[in-house]
Amino acid sequence: MNERIAVVGAGQMGNGIAHVAAVSGLAVTMIDVAEAALGKGRDTIAGNLERQVKKGTIDAAAREAALARITVSTTLEAAKDASVIIEAATERVDLKFRIFEDLDRLASPDAVLATNTSSIPITAIAARTKRPASVIGMHFMNPVPVMQLVEVIRGLATSDETTAKVMSLAKSLGKTAVEVNDAPGFVANRVLMPMINEAVYCLMEGVGTAESIDTVMKLGMNHPMGPLALADLIGLDTCLAIMEVLHRGIGDDKYRPCPLLRKYVDAGWLGRKSGRGFYRY
Ligand code: NAD
Repeated sequence: MNERIAVVGAGQMGNGIAHVAAVSGLAVTMIDVAEAALGKGRDTIAGNLERQVKKGTIDAAAREAALARITVSTTLEAAKDASVIIEAATERVDLKFRIFEDLDRLASPDAVLATNTSSIPITAIAARTKRPASVIGMHFMNPVPVMQLVEVIRGLATSDETTAKVMSLAKSLGKTAVEVNDAPGFVANRVLMPMINEAVYCLMEGVGTAESIDTVMKLGMNHPMGPLALADLIGLDTCLAIMEVLHRGIGDDKYRPCPLLRKYVDAGWLGRKSGRGFYRY
């Protein structure tokens, strides 16, 4: 395939998506408002490719070719030639709305506009554009190079053609795509995030330590990671944002974010990305 895709946001998800796309042979433009995030994103991709070379899953030539396929930019205009644009910027409704309004203006008329949002309704994002049929959720899992699933979310107006394009792109990236309908948190975070939030309540109420809560869920439920370690991996700011979307969107208090989660985010303890969350890194 010699298509170009653009990834908006070079954070942990954006650089992971750029990584798998480049390894699969696609030209990738990685865009971020922060120059530093682009540098860090590139370094992360280089480090992860190197790990794959050491494991023998790709060779050195493939690593170099993948890196050469990635260009970076600090302006959204750089997405104008892409046939698929995947937005993976910070999980904030106002920010996503603005990015999609801008993409609507800039992107090629037949481009697919996908969002990697964890929870924000696709229908609402699509409604900010004049082409809601071309807007879709393409929800990768963290870490993107490792995890098999892509949750593909159809908004109310998403067309069959857009869905087929994204299902086929996910397959060409070596992923398994599952199609679901639009609702706050979709399926993945509708089920996962209340569990994480409940684990934070257990910690806040002293039911267990972080280690004991995580060990119960790992050994007792056969989860590969405990919920608090997973929250640190996802980012506590992202977890809080998702709980707020569930709470607001579904309107049931069972989705209220745990005050301890809010406190950690207020403190800047965001998990792995800030060096401290429920654990220290
Ligand atoms: P992150 O904080 O690591 O990265 C976000 C990046 O977006 C930052 O580099 C920031 O500079 C950039 N950004 C902010 N505003 C921008 C703009 N206007 N234009 C371009 N870039 C902008 O966050 P992340 O964990 O990579 O999450 C990104 C998205 O992926 C969110 O929507 C999140 O919900 C979703 N997601 C996250 C996970 C996870 O486990 N962290 C999993 C699936 C989906």
